[in-house]
Amino acid sequence: MKKLLLTAFAFWSSAALAEDQISPSPFIEALPDDIERRIAADSVRSIFDAGLQNGNVSEQFIQRSNMWSLGDTLRVCFFGGTQGLRARIAKVALSWTQPGAPVKLDFGNLNDPRICGSGSGISHIRIGYSYRGYWSLVGRDSLVYADQYQQSMNLQRFDSTPPSSPEFERIVLHEFGHALGFQHEHQNPLSSCEEEFNWDIIYRELRGAPNFWDDDKINHNLRRMPYYSGDFASTFDRTSIMLYTFPEYYYRMGIASKCYSPANDVISAGDRAALSAAYSQRPASINALTEFAKALPPQDRSAAFDRIEFWKLQSDAALVVSEGRKDIEKPLFASTIKKLPKTAIDQNALDNFYTERNK
Ligand SMILES: [Zn+2]
Repeated sequence: MKKLLLTAFAFWSSAALAEDQISPSPFIEALPDDIERRIAADSVRSIFDAGLQNGNVSEQFIQRSNMWSLGDTLRVCFFGGTQGLRARIAKVALSWTQPGAPVKLDFGNLNDPRICGSGSGISHIRIGYSYRGYWSLVGRDSLVYADQYQQSMNLQRFDSTPPSSPEFERIVLHEFGHALGFQHEHQNPLSSCEEEFNWDIIYRELRGAPNFWDDDKINHNLRRMPYYSGDFASTFDRTSIMLYTFPEYYYRMGIASKCYSPANDVISAGDRAALSAAYSQRPASINALTEFAKALPPQDRSAAFDRIEFWKLQSDAALVVSEGRKDIEKPLFASTIKKLPKTAIDQNALDNFYTERNK
C-alpha cells in the first residue's frame, strides 16, 4: 500500500470543516476510493515503482514523464455549474497558461465553457463538485485512472456555495497545478519541512477524526520526496501556490518556520519557472525511463514500453484503457489516432486491494 497514494493529492477542505463541525482538526481530502483502487491495481505503475525502490529510477523522472507533452492543448470540461461559475473558474485557471507556458488550456467558449459529454472528442481535465473536498488527478493520470464520465478534479460545492475570494482563486489555481503535473511544495526534495514539522502532533491529529489516516498515508502525503542525484527540483518556494497552509502548531517553530505559509493566492514566479523547467526536462526523463525499461525482463519490458509510448503522446492522440479484463478504445481526436497503449489493470492486485481494505 506504500505507493497507493502516489498520485493522490489533497487540499484542505475548510468548507467541509466549517460545515461538518466534526473536529477542530483540519480535514484533508484524498482521492475517492474508486480512483485509489485503479491506482493500486496498476500493474505497469508497479514496474516503475519497483525500480524506484531499488534506486534505479527517480521519482522525478516518473512524475515528469506523467506530465503532458510540450505544446499540448488540454481540453477542459465541467460536470455542471452555471455559465457564470464555469466562466469564472476558466478565467482563474488560465493564469497558468500565460504566453510562453509549455501547455495550453482549452475551455471552448470562454464565456460559456464546455460541458462534459457535449460535442466530440475527449476532455483531459473534467471538473465536478460532488465529491468531498478538493482534489485533482495529476497530469496524465486524468486519462489513465478516471474515465470520461468521471471527474478528474473536484471543487466541492463550488456549484452551490462557492468560497469567497481569494479562497476561490487559491483552490482553483492549486488544483490546476496538480492537473498540469505539480506536486506539493512541502514535499519538495530540497525543502526542510520534514525537519520542521511537529510530527507527534501531526500523527496524533491525522490518525484521528476527521481524517483517520494510517501512518503510511501520513508519511506519503507529508514526508519529503526522495532526491536522487541528477534530479531537478527548484529550491523551496514559500510563496508557491502548491504549498499547503498547515496550522501553525504543525511546525515546531510555529509561524517562524520557513515552511509555514499564510494562504498563497497567486501563482508564484517560482511556480512558473518550475513549470517551464519541468516540461523542458521531460524528454530527458522519458529517455532515462526508456533505458530502465530496456533492462527489464521481457514481460515487464513490453508493458513498460507501452506506458512510455503513452507518455510520449501528444494530447490529441488515441488511447486504449483496460478496465478489468475488458479493453475499451477511446479516440481522443478521431482524426489523429496514432498509437494504442494500454493501462493494464491487474485483477489480482485489485482483489488484494479489496481484501486489504476489508481487513
Ligand atoms: Zn494539493
